[in-house]
Amino acid sequence: MDGETFRHWAHEAATFAADYRETLRDQPVRARTKPGEIAAQLPESPPEEAEPMAALFEDFRRIIVPGMTHWQHPRFFAYFPANASPASVIAEMLSSAMGAQCLLWQTSPAATELEGVALDWLRQAVGLPADFTGVIQDSASSATLCAFLTMRERALGFTGNATGLSGRERLRVYASAEVHTSIDRAAWVSGIGHDNLIRVRTTGPLRGMDPAGLEAAIAADLAAGHRPAGLVLCVGGTGTGAIDTAPELIRIAHRHGLFVHVDAAWAGTAMICPEFRDLWAGVEAADSIVLNPHKWLGVQFDCSAHYLRSVDDHLRTLSIQPEYLKTHGHDDITNYSEWTVQLGRRFRALKLWFVLRAHGLNGLREMMRNHVRWSQALAARIAAEPGFALASTPVLSLFTFRHDPGDGRDLDAHMLAMLTAINDGGDLYLTPTRIDGHLAIRFQAGAMETTEGDVDAAFQIIRDTARALS
Ligand SMILES: *Cc1c(COP(=O)(O)O)cnc(C)c1O
Repeated sequence: MDGETFRHWAHEAATFAADYRETLRDQPVRARTKPGEIAAQLPESPPEEAEPMAALFEDFRRIIVPGMTHWQHPRFFAYFPANASPASVIAEMLSSAMGAQCLLWQTSPAATELEGVALDWLRQAVGLPADFTGVIQDSASSATLCAFLTMRERALGFTGNATGLSGRERLRVYASAEVHTSIDRAAWVSGIGHDNLIRVRTTGPLRGMDPAGLEAAIAADLAAGHRPAGLVLCVGGTGTGAIDTAPELIRIAHRHGLFVHVDAAWAGTAMICPEFRDLWAGVEAADSIVLNPHKWLGVQFDCSAHYLRSVDDHLRTLSIQPEYLKTHGHDDITNYSEWTVQLGRRFRALKLWFVLRAHGLNGLREMMRNHVRWSQALAARIAAEPGFALASTPVLSLFTFRHDPGDGRDLDAHMLAMLTAINDGGDLYLTPTRIDGHLAIRFQAGAMETTEGDVDAAFQIIRDTARALS
């Protein structure tokens, strides 16, 4: 592609990006596409000859865009947000333009140095102490996998990578049932095994891990000859926003030599607001913490911040050049590919830096505070409606609810029918969760473009749908 053609289509892409954002409100939030419908419009084999960019662009608009669910939509209240603030999109275009590879310092010195600086800014912003050092991972799932590998290696005296796990005592990791499925998969992939991921019971309205349950589980494992290796705490669980209260759990874990990883993928970035920090008070004693700027904070996916207390344990586990450790801390060179499972690394720090500067912490705080206020007001309004009840206590901008028409019908089926009607309507997008075996509807406000009016509209639609189906 010659320079002029590239310039032309790069401009077209920028125009698409701006138009897309401006017209998003008029689109249905969730794609109205049936399985297989998009693939059926595409040729089965690749082209032998070059096609003009105009044809590619035309097919993108005609076939692909209508098959997308719009995560930037102001009425996206499903899952968790995946905000792509325009500033982060621009940074991503720039990084893509350079095709940057950030595996070693020398392969992109500015990327490495900016990663250190941007992550330290974010550390200060969320109020973590200076003894935490960060690395950008592609996702929280990868950060959690690295934490499981470090747990494993610490428990095995850093011999597991060399000799494998067969014939060894069982390593045990403790978590509640509220943790994300990435914790289950980290147990599988790290070789620790799902049977060795022990679910500790939860208590209280925030469904946090019961310290006595953790003590009892560790004692039972020690008595059985197993080796307790790690504890995973959840700050803002996916289903209902469950919160494990850190200080006592971490004290117990450290008394038994466990490595403690905190999954705050969603809620962690909200700690830029000091008034929310009670939710994770005590996490500064943990060994590893993950939070996702690619969720609420507005950094275009993907960008996951992984903070470590001991970089040496992490590198002893992951670094492919053990001799490199000898110089760690003694020179100014960091090679981040030694800190992650994959070798090649994207230039993700650029978009984190752009977002922090383009919005300022105050701009980001204002967005989050609005979401929390609007969402909690909506929870109170829904709870006051006849037939409605909250199914879990609101945590930040997340709550869950149920509706009962009072005629003895199957309530799970009724909840599903409500969700289907709401989501097929296209004006909102909500997702379900299961609480104590029963289906509930989840609501979270987190999209950057959401207004108080959108949350009001959600109330009307939820109430009217419940009435229509009663
Ligand atoms: C979103 C989320 C994850 C997974 O995040 P990825 O970055 O997509 O891997 C893990 N844990 C919690 C609590 C989450 O909210």
